[in-house]
Amino acid sequence: MRPLCFGDTDTGYAVEDAKLHPHPQTAARTMNDNQLLRYSRHILLDEIGIEGQEKLLAGHALVIGAGGLGSPAAYYLASAGIGRITLVDNDTVDLTNLQRQILHTTERIGQPKTQSGKRTLAQINPEIEVVALTERVQDERLAELVQQASVVLDCSDNFETRHAINRACVAHRVPLVSGAAIRFDGQISVFDTRRDDAPCYACLFPPDQQFEEVLCSTMGVFAPLVGIIGTMQAAEALKLVAGIGESLAGRLLLLDARNMEWTSIRIARSDSCSVCGH
Ligand SMILES: [Zn+2]
Repeated sequence: MRPLCFGDTDTGYAVEDAKLHPHPQTAARTMNDNQLLRYSRHILLDEIGIEGQEKLLAGHALVIGAGGLGSPAAYYLASAGIGRITLVDNDTVDLTNLQRQILHTTERIGQPKTQSGKRTLAQINPEIEVVALTERVQDERLAELVQQASVVLDCSDNFETRHAINRACVAHRVPLVSGAAIRFDGQISVFDTRRDDAPCYACLFPPDQQFEEVLCSTMGVFAPLVGIIGTMQAAEALKLVAGIGESLAGRLLLLDARNMEWTSIRIARSDSCSVCGH
């Protein structure tokens, strides 16, 4: 094992470097000079390069929930250059949100979370498109939005919405990055039913089974926990859009943030699943 370099403060990379030393099989095509600089630290990665960054710029992430998980997820999707983000939430910014919902600010209390989020994201990266939808999406509307997305991030806070999102993602074969966080406990997985062997959310949590509905709006949550899980959701979404590495499909990661311990559980597709089963 060797130490990683910390800090990441150097600025010794210029547009000319990207042009003179492009990623092996690619050359600067559609990105302008500012984009080559903005995304230079991605372009320098063998796994991404110019080609991968162009995939991100052509990507569309549907983020459902602009709260604790949606905030950090959207931050990194925007900064990393996902070309289009649709941010869906029907709530307004409340003082009790600000401890963890980092898209929002004190002066925006009372404003729709989607509008607040859009303003923050535009400051980070004005080159991407952010669509703010202040509504509670269900059924047909949800299906319509899911069909237009390259990846869906479930950053919602209730089982009903989670199952509705899963049904739409399974029906239209759009990969779903699902995160959850409450108290000191976090969960994250990917449900990518473009793969025939991959489970869906309902394989793991059958809709007819009774789970204790923990209302995130009234329970305690450790502030950075949503940052950890939401940021990982962004990482998985970016990997899926750029086509990098192995996703969390078929695995559920559980985090106990009290002891900062991770547990990885294999999850299988269920033939009897009411959503994706045969
Ligand atoms: Zn299933």
